[in-house]
Amino acid sequence: MSTATAFKPLFENFVFETVSCYSCGSASSKEFIVAQDDLTGKPGSFRFVTCQDCGLTYQNPRIRIDRIKSYYDDEYIAHRKKTDWGRLTWFYNWVMDRHDIDKDRIIRRYVELGPQSEILDVGCAVGTFLQKMRTLYDARVSGVDFKDLSHSSTLDGVEFHCGLFYNQRLASGRFDLVTMWHFLEHDYDPLRTLLMAKRVLKPEGRLVIEVPRLDSVTFRLYRERWPGLQAPQHTVLFERRTLLNLIEKCGLEVVDYLPYGAFPPYFYIFAGAAFKILKGRGLNLSKAIVPYFLGQILLLPLLMAERQLNLAMQTVICRRKP
Ligand SMILES: [Zn+2]
Repeated sequence: MSTATAFKPLFENFVFETVSCYSCGSASSKEFIVAQDDLTGKPGSFRFVTCQDCGLTYQNPRIRIDRIKSYYDDEYIAHRKKTDWGRLTWFYNWVMDRHDIDKDRIIRRYVELGPQSEILDVGCAVGTFLQKMRTLYDARVSGVDFKDLSHSSTLDGVEFHCGLFYNQRLASGRFDLVTMWHFLEHDYDPLRTLLMAKRVLKPEGRLVIEVPRLDSVTFRLYRERWPGLQAPQHTVLFERRTLLNLIEKCGLEVVDYLPYGAFPPYFYIFAGAAFKILKGRGLNLSKAIVPYFLGQILLLPLLMAERQLNLAMQTVICRRKP
């Protein structure tokens, strides 16, 4: 046995930990899929299992929380630290702004906002969505992220909290709107997160959760290369049923369920095809940006029917039970 092989289990114990089901606590599970870090191409295999008691799919073992930060490095696209995309920068900014406008299109159907409104975005990254809320409604905005992004100029005017959401000192019943745009699938304790969200919501407040949808067309198409696996950052993969189970378990009432979100499903269509070809070598976004937008133009007729096709995303709007 080589030295490297001898030390491998020791290294893995240091980085990984075994977990039980986030929803029902059961330790009984069966293997679901083994994934790679297709997005950045970092080495490693990551295993997802399905709970034999409640059907929730989650990563097990998972990377310990004190080790996961290195996977949210400067390349991590959702934190939007890369701002220079050359000649296409204006187009990139326009697309990102459209994403925040699409978030607003969803929330404005469920909550009336104004200068007195308090909004909290959990997993706010550099805060562009919260800035959009300030611009549109003059609302008071707060954000939480476990990465310290407080130096970002886009967080000016945002009450920024660094750390885990459920460890923050936030007053009960404070917020009119709490949003989680692609946050819950990264969470290490989603049950605790939802209970915290319920606590900080006003009695008439709304919680909006968008996550990738496991029982969707793009998962069936790409399986172990489905972009929604996003190993190792995604700790939980939600079907419609398992997401609603978890929400109801926390004493939240579902106001509406949407088989789509603000996140463009085309990203999953494009990235899944690229991951199939690249087989874990990582996607170079600078090189992919031109084929990405050309493909989007070609698929425009399909994407216009996105809300009927269950392509990749799901959004739940909920409230505290009266
Ligand atoms: Zn379970």
